[in-house]
Amino acid sequence: MRKRANKAKTPLRVVVSRSDPTEPDEFEVSRIQPMMVLDVLLAIQREQDPAIGFRYSCRVGMCGTCTVRLDGRSVLACQTPVPANVTRIRIDPLAGLPVLRDLVVDTAPFWQAWEAVRPYLVPKDPEAGMDGAPATIEPDSAERKQIDPALDCIGCAACFSSCGIASARRDFLGPAALNRAMVLIADSRDQASTERLSVVGTDSGVDRCHYIYGCTSVCPKGLDPAAAIRRLRKWRFDDTR
Ligand code: SF4
Repeated sequence: MRKRANKAKTPLRVVVSRSDPTEPDEFEVSRIQPMMVLDVLLAIQREQDPAIGFRYSCRVGMCGTCTVRLDGRSVLACQTPVPANVTRIRIDPLAGLPVLRDLVVDTAPFWQAWEAVRPYLVPKDPEAGMDGAPATIEPDSAERKQIDPALDCIGCAACFSSCGIASARRDFLGPAALNRAMVLIADSRDQASTERLSVVGTDSGVDRCHYIYGCTSVCPKGLDPAAAIRRLRKWRFDDTR
């Protein structure tokens, strides 16, 4: 009688980008099912190399800190399973951000772009919502339909890493910051929309997008930053929202 191969026991070969070329960059990890990319990194850290550098926090896809590239694709390590039929993977840090150590990157360029669009609501009426009638957006309004699908950005920078223009650091605000600008410009309670539209209309803004759709294809929250950029391009010349 032939025995079934126990895939759960098949070891996984893992190549990890290291900043110090003298440190080991290839490991063999015992499989568990299911196995997330973060499980792989934790197993390496626990059993083979405590010095390996990577970042994580919430483990439930909310904090956006564990983003790495799995075989070239930017993913949340805590939410991305290693496919059961794969025997070898490669894990690299995000593209376009300075590497601090191993898989840990300096996200400052990403957040600088975010900051440039004034990423918070600037209320037209600062008192609204305090004790009077709250400033609200009707649930089934056209405005709400524009805002809601673009709202859940966790700042993971997967889109930034996957955008050839942003990750090459060619002075492009990048998908996440532009998506955030679109959310706030669409919001009728905000008074900084004109200022934001001028920021997104600069040489670092929407015109640098080449519509490769790398951002939209990797966003772990299902956002569509390319659609936000398209909308911003329109709003620069036609204020009908
Ligand atoms: Fe991450 Fe998506 Fe936000 Fe980009 S838009 S930072 S991929 S959650």
